[in-house]
Amino acid sequence: MNCYYTFSMITQCTDCSNTGKKDQFCDKCIKVADYFDVFQYTNDVDNKELVGRIKAYRWKDALDYVKKSFFADNFDLVTNCEKDFAFVEKKFDKEKVIGYKLYLNPIHGNDKITLWNLT
Ligand SMILES: [Zn+2]
Repeated sequence: MNCYYTFSMITQCTDCSNTGKKDQFCDKCIKVADYFDVFQYTNDVDNKELVGRIKAYRWKDALDYVKKSFFADNFDLVTNCEKDFAFVEKKFDKEKVIGYKLYLNPIHGNDKITLWNLT
């Protein structure tokens, strides 16, 4: 999956780089986290509500967290990236959809919202 905008960066250390695996990280790798604002929506995708913020190194980590934490099971989840956000949603039937949109938040001020730190 390719999400377009990201400020996060993981530079693998020599050891990890030598494994040839892009998912290999350790404490010696240089990692910079991003903040992802999580909005919940039901049925009407434009009517969304901020439920919290995820601090993570990658879109993938943030999306995996949403899948695990906000859905009772992982069946039939639709995950995708749009130009400036990613989403995970589940359609229960034609009428009912529950989903979460994730936006990168480069400012992440000290506002009092729940922070899930995955770093
Ligand atoms: Zn490493």
